Amino acid sequence: MSGPLVFGAVIVAAGRGVRFGRPKQLVAVGGRPLVAWSIETFGTMPEIAELAIATEPESVAALQELAERYAPARAVRVVAGGATRQASVARGIAALSATCEAVAIHDGARPLVLADDVRRAMAQVGAGQAAVLAAPVVDTIKRVPRDAATVAETLDRAELWAAQTPQLATRADLERAHAAAARDGIDATDDTALLERIGVRVVVVPPSGENFKVTLRADRELAESVLRERAGERARVEYRVGHGFDAHRLVEGRPFVLGGIEIPCAFGPLGHSDADVLAHALSDAILGACALGDLGAHFPDIDPQWKGADSMRMLEACVAMAAAGGYTLANVDVTVVVERPRLAPHLAAIRARVAASLRIERDLVSVKAKTSEGMGYTGDGTGIAAYAVAGLVRSERR
Ligand code: MG
Repeated sequence: MSGPLVFGAVIVAAGRGVRFGRPKQLVAVGGRPLVAWSIETFGTMPEIAELAIATEPESVAALQELAERYAPARAVRVVAGGATRQASVARGIAALSATCEAVAIHDGARPLVLADDVRRAMAQVGAGQAAVLAAPVVDTIKRVPRDAATVAETLDRAELWAAQTPQLATRADLERAHAAAARDGIDATDDTALLERIGVRVVVVPPSGENFKVTLRADRELAESVLRERAGERARVEYRVGHGFDAHRLVEGRPFVLGGIEIPCAFGPLGHSDADVLAHALSDAILGACALGDLGAHFPDIDPQWKGADSMRMLEACVAMAAAGGYTLANVDVTVVVERPRLAPHLAAIRARVAASLRIERDLVSVKAKTSEGMGYTGDGTGIAAYAVAGLVRSERR
């Protein structure tokens, strides 16, 4: 054999689900029709060239729509199935084009099959050799003859496997097996059983994940919880850190505003707005975490609308910009450096005000006050400075 086989997939989505009150394959599981999960899995595997879906005649249109939505890049043929599962599979195989040398037959009621497990099974397939996803049986199995109520024997569990799908074989072997079954009047619910009859070897491939059949309401709930868990594993959390700095000159007769709180003082920071260094440093930290430039770019000094403005409003606008990018504040930490006035008595009020503006819990907001021991512009009373870091989180589903 030269090169890997070209595979087509047949999804069997027939059977009116009396238990669910509507065609079982169209019952919603995890926010989409049950069979859509299988269509997506096989329809997005590059190794699967084509898809055929066998369903009852009245569901053909609905399945065609699902195929366009969940396997948009794949050639999909939806065919009306036959009177039995075996007949439906045969029609599905016949619907695949001649380029398909091997076929994976899957039950549309198994929404959880993993592409990697399908690949491992595909690797086993060759002329005279088929593969089936199967799991060792956990229950002890008793053989009870037809029309009897007593056990004839207890089977050796170590030798028992429960067949799942997909079941895979070369197209030639499958066509031979179906022809033989038709000739001999055999009707099986399992594709590999037909292959075994004609001497094809069948390799069992244990699935790495859940692959149960959804037949009862309880299965549906369990399938949804597996799908939720898998979606959670794929959720990506992105952490960002931003840094901000600000300094203003201190002059007589200006209000001393810090973190939106006015502190009684004979002097205050000079600036176009209220010159709130804490609000400015923190705004820059938030913008920095999102790589959105700095405060000056968004709120220019020369813009008259920000003259004497409450800088906490600018801070709130920065939080809104971050939120628009999907970012949520995880925490902030600010250090204010000034010699006088003493900030300690005001820190609790500042934290509360900042937390309110950021719309986060107070214990996620840290505000610290430092002096620079008489050194430099913050030490000789010339100015006030603030340093801030902001941690942001963005979670996205892939
Ligand atoms: Mg400033």
